[in-house]
Amino acid sequence: MAAHRTMDAGRERGYDIAVIGAGSAGFSAAITAAEHGARVALIGHGTIGGTCVNVGCVPSKTMIRAAGALHGARAASRFPGLAGQAQVTAWRELVAAKDALVASLRQKKYVDLLPGYDGITYLQGRARLDGPGVLVNGDALHADRIIITTGARAARPDIVGIESVAALDSTSALELTGLPGSLLVIGAGYIGCELAQMFARMGVQVTLVSRRGVLPEAEPEIAAALSGYFTDEGIRVVCGIAYRRIEQDGSGVTLAVERDGHEERLVAERVLVATGRTPNTEDLGLDEAGIARDPSGAIEVDDRMRTTRPGVYAAGDVTGRDQFVYMAAHGAKLAARNALNGDRLVYDNAAMPAVVFTDPQVASVGLTQAQAGRARYARPDQAHRRRALAATARRAHPGAGGRGQHPERGARDPPRHERAGSGRDDLSVSDHRRRAEARRSGIRQGHRELVVLRGLSRLRGLSRLPGRERCARYRLTAHDGRRQRV
Ligand SMILES: Cc1cc2nc3c(=O)[nH]c(=O)nc-3n(C[C@H](O)[C@H](O)[C@H](O)COP(=O)(O)OP(=O)(O)OC[C@H]3O[C@@H](n4cnc5c(N)ncnc54)[C@H](O)[C@@H]3O)c2cc1C
Repeated sequence: MAAHRTMDAGRERGYDIAVIGAGSAGFSAAITAAEHGARVALIGHGTIGGTCVNVGCVPSKTMIRAAGALHGARAASRFPGLAGQAQVTAWRELVAAKDALVASLRQKKYVDLLPGYDGITYLQGRARLDGPGVLVNGDALHADRIIITTGARAARPDIVGIESVAALDSTSALELTGLPGSLLVIGAGYIGCELAQMFARMGVQVTLVSRRGVLPEAEPEIAAALSGYFTDEGIRVVCGIAYRRIEQDGSGVTLAVERDGHEERLVAERVLVATGRTPNTEDLGLDEAGIARDPSGAIEVDDRMRTTRPGVYAAGDVTGRDQFVYMAAHGAKLAARNALNGDRLVYDNAAMPAVVFTDPQVASVGLTQAQAGRARYARPDQAHRRRALAATARRAHPGAGGRGQHPERGARDPPRHERAGSGRDDLSVSDHRRRAEARRSGIRQGHRELVVLRGLSRLRGLSRLPGRERCARYRLTAHDGRRQRV
């Protein structure tokens, strides 16, 4: 993609802000800054649009939706008088249709937005911090402020032999030209769970393996319910194990795991690794710039999105927290506004919504009971504790886990400043108003409501569905640990 203004022009005049990384967070930061009148250099390496549109939310949800259609047809016989059959007839065509959707959304939601912003110069290339400015393809450019939004990539698990195995990750799994007969999915976080079920519904024999269990960050009751649904659908779920080694031979992959002191061998044609995301922070010159990273390599930011170097901010997956597209966009927007207006805005994820796009889906808001306990919200039935909750309403909770909403979905065409996942501007809402709003909507600090949404509709009247008792709607309060069915 060509720059909308030339590099020379940028060098001569300099920029108010340089944004490194042109994914959801980068676009959100650049658009926000341009709308505030700033001259912005948006520097993108790799496919414009980043993870969500190209290899994350959009392609995965497309394939999940297709797999759901297969499942719906097969499950029709649960109703008296219905019968249905469906199977994959041309996997390549399905993948091609998904790629076409990705290309059109990338164009519409990212590429086509740029010409509308005179203040944004898009520069293609790998960027690196260089003294007070940024190096792009070896050319230096000056910017008063820098926002790093370089995202993350699939992590490789620490399993003996993994480097000698042709493992798939979420990106390559969605690009397969043919379906394997069997698949070992290592990691049962949100990506592992969604893809495991998608492939199983496409007709692949799936084994889902995890040390910590299905959705380890979710409420245990919900995780157990989902695990039951997976088993009912024919997915083999293997949890509570330790990985020993992994090997590949002509017929496939063997993962040796240890359970209760015994070794088990799990065999499949292919293996998909979904064990988390590694921040893209190498080769950015962070150490030289004095920008601190946490042990996982993520850039450390404070609650104003500031790194440890004055004038440099970071947002999105590269910070290692709240890895959902709308939180990336939200944090980036806040970083841009703070960079321009004196660091007044605070990142607040206390009532963060999240969804896992399995079937049934898992939806949540705010903290889990365990997280609330760790955050010392365990006994807020005492008045002073409730006041403490209110006082800490603006505190960020990096550990709050869960999943994000589908970013491309929505009933209305959002105004321009909200596109590219930048979301509603609620940054100026006062604490008092935010708490009042939260109370009205039933989302209180220290509470988390979890629902297995689609499970509910199935429960009603579908007595043949095994495991139905496991799936229900709960409200878990951090006040006293009581669980209410609602
Ligand atoms: C399979 C999958 C499914 C997902 N599903 C959902 C979902 O349903 N809902 C949801 O909310 N979230 C979902 N996510 C998470 C979501 O995609 C991410 O949280 C979000 O896209 C992160 O945006 P970002 O801008 O921080 O990073 P990215 O979108 O990754 O953008 C970073 C960009 O920076 C570029 N870059 C890296 N280094 C440099 C450099 N040195 N110079 C210039 N550019 C550089 C990268 O190439 C990339 O283009 C999913 C993720 C995956 C992997």
